[in-house]
Amino acid sequence: MKKKVLIVYTGGTIGMVQDDNGSLHPFALDRIYDAVPQLKNCSYGIDSVTLDNIIDSSNMTPSMWVEIAEKIERNYDDYDGFVVLHGTDTMAYTASALSFMFKNLSKPIILTGSQLPLGMLRSDGRENIICALEIASTRLAVIPEVCIFFESHLYRGNRSTKMNAENFDAFASYNLPSLARVGINISFREHLFLPMPTEKLQVRKHFDTRVAILKLFPGIGPEVVGAVLNTPDLQGVVIETYGSGNAPTEEWFISAVEAAIRRGVIVLNVTQCKAGAVKMRQYAASCDLDRIGVIGAGDITIEAAITKMMCLLGQYPDDKEHVKQRLSQSLRGEITE
Ligand code: ASP
Repeated sequence: MKKKVLIVYTGGTIGMVQDDNGSLHPFALDRIYDAVPQLKNCSYGIDSVTLDNIIDSSNMTPSMWVEIAEKIERNYDDYDGFVVLHGTDTMAYTASALSFMFKNLSKPIILTGSQLPLGMLRSDGRENIICALEIASTRLAVIPEVCIFFESHLYRGNRSTKMNAENFDAFASYNLPSLARVGINISFREHLFLPMPTEKLQVRKHFDTRVAILKLFPGIGPEVVGAVLNTPDLQGVVIETYGSGNAPTEEWFISAVEAAIRRGVIVLNVTQCKAGAVKMRQYAASCDLDRIGVIGAGDITIEAAITKMMCLLGQYPDDKEHVKQRLSQSLRGEITE
């Protein structure tokens, strides 16, 4: 039987057109078929749906993640795979969020986009969309994961990060090799795929956005740290620490974090480094954090850390201990264990 893929179009450069001043704006999906006519006669069936508002992904919100997830959930049984066309700016956040929303996923959800609009001659969008569709519909391997396809590589979505605003290879996955590489052939690294689930799909749809990211820098002072940690109603904070999870050992800093933890704020330690992991207590400069109850998040990306925190807080609003426990574990292959 012919395989079927559903495209969920959200906007982004891939479908944008230039206005008279040269600025790029999202445009309707039909233009995509004009720009890639090959899509009309490929070996698998393609249908498409569009978000209520197509956006530059800088305007992405958790309620739009729910809208994307619901479009996939509603069509889940009728398609073999899903391709989400998305702006690159927040693609790694959306891919991470979707990975935590879909529990027991048994079909591929592949996000892709482009650095140049499809309508432009040199656009990278044509190759990205065609490869994403091929992988979503292939009989060679079923990838039960949320992924990002970009410039020859299929990455695990919650391991990806946008690292280049100029080049066509805009994404990287520093702590996990890509799941597939596209050359003359598509080589799948099946040993890296998440296991096929045995239970039924569940979709989490609640996010708690009362969270913050606090990035450390030499010279950061009590006012800035206090302003973030004393945000009214704050439920969780990701601290972007140095190296393998190190932070200032000064008394004012440790007491500010400790006071927040006592008030019930969950504090997660994620490194500013692109590659490598937080290892609490490797240096004396992380011992105090460990002592006061900061949670080490291993080699998670910042995009995965903040979306995972919002998703878990949304799902277990009355069970902070459970949220903390889940934050320190890998749920969807986002942490190397
Ligand atoms: N600003 C665009 C967006 O993220 C960039 C892109 O799509 O590449 O929507």
